[in-house]
Amino acid sequence: MLGDMKPFNLAGNIYFVGTYKASSHLIDTGDGLILIDTGYAETADVIAESVAELGFDIRDVKYILHSHGHYDHTGGTPKILELTGAKTFISEDDVKYISGWKPDHFYRDGQVISLGNTQILCVATPGHTEGTFSFFFDVDIDGKTYRAGMFGGAGTNQLKKAYLHKKKCSWLNRGLYFESVERLKQEHVDIFLGNHTWNNQTKENYERMLVSDTNPFIDETKWLPFLQKCEKDAEAVMLKESRDSFVNYAHRGASEYTPENTFLAFYTGMYMGANGIETDVQMTKDGVLVLFHDDTITRLTGAEGRVSDYTLDELRQYTFETNGQTDKIVVLEDFLRQFAFRDITFAIEIKQAGIEPQIADMIRKYHVEDKAIVTSFMPECIRAIKEYAPELHIGLLTKNVTDDTVAYLKQIGAEEICPRAVDVTPEKTAIWHREGLNVRPWGVKNEELMRQVYDSMADGMTVNFPDKLAKYIREQAEIQELFG
Ligand SMILES: [Zn+2]
Repeated sequence: MLGDMKPFNLAGNIYFVGTYKASSHLIDTGDGLILIDTGYAETADVIAESVAELGFDIRDVKYILHSHGHYDHTGGTPKILELTGAKTFISEDDVKYISGWKPDHFYRDGQVISLGNTQILCVATPGHTEGTFSFFFDVDIDGKTYRAGMFGGAGTNQLKKAYLHKKKCSWLNRGLYFESVERLKQEHVDIFLGNHTWNNQTKENYERMLVSDTNPFIDETKWLPFLQKCEKDAEAVMLKESRDSFVNYAHRGASEYTPENTFLAFYTGMYMGANGIETDVQMTKDGVLVLFHDDTITRLTGAEGRVSDYTLDELRQYTFETNGQTDKIVVLEDFLRQFAFRDITFAIEIKQAGIEPQIADMIRKYHVEDKAIVTSFMPECIRAIKEYAPELHIGLLTKNVTDDTVAYLKQIGAEEICPRAVDVTPEKTAIWHREGLNVRPWGVKNEELMRQVYDSMADGMTVNFPDKLAKYIREQAEIQELFG
């Protein structure tokens, strides 16, 4: 395969040896070569030829550094390793993405890799992948020292929920991305290297270089605007998703019109245009998971006691009524049997501590891991779920969000924050989004609050009247279509 980019001396001892779709850089340290990224398997020969075309011997490559584990940066490694005795570096967190070779070294954050005249600072900048690393090193040119820098994973398509689901990655990767961009802003960079050519306009700058006396790659004004653009792109991904995949959760079903947490309520919610169902789980005296909200059964049945004081058969004696409509208590498993295959999201609230493993088992049994989020007002319950079933998404319902709340959520791997609807503003949603959190307010008492929450760019909300929310979302989409 022929290269679509000519290899060239980019600046000082740095050479471009990659392709348009995947950059590779060669550093001549005076005591051996360092190669950063190996591109696709299909273009490994191109890299080898490019190295030769520049007059280097590929056998002199001593180190191969990988910015992250994706195929377009590591696919060429097995082939290059056949041609060299190089030692390879990658983050331990990205080993899951690679195949066909075994790394020799894992980076540590802040590690300096030295060879000849070059010391490369390796900085952990996760987000694009869990183990993305960025590189910084000094380059001497005509007696002056310049700082070269590369953001090891700038792409934001990998922050989309669908992609994160597919790769079994946490939504919190989004928060890591923003943190990494902040970290990178602290570095001064004169020579901005891209691991994709479109990051630093490698092709255009190379063409300018051919007809110019100055080197367009040496330009300290390029780094910060690039990082700001990365940030904007990531924000745009989250904002677009907040509209395109907003979840209108029928709260305990369409509970404004029908008896809450019953099949009647859930089906009514669906007919009314909800694309999510929120429900509550407790365990009966005889160990069956049922959908029930209150601590006691008094409000719905008039009888005394808790759900756990009754067997399922006893609870089935009661009929719940709202607006003259009646229905009976629902077993979680029956609910999942009827709704699991539907293209909807489930918000499952744990109402009793200690039943977390049984809930997780049921979610696994009906294969709704990717479209269920398990929530609770009890932080220890969602932590217990996550410890038992790390693949599940968890969220915390809370009456008061503090910095500690957010720190706790990130620590236990919770991807969703559920604040009170009255506390949600566009500013706060933006802050929580930057932490990587999905924002799903609760307590939407009236339509005005409903509109306010939707307009705050939250990702979903629970409402007792999903018909009204569905209508508002349709109207807003129409306005967007008409006026942009
Ligand atoms: Zn990538």
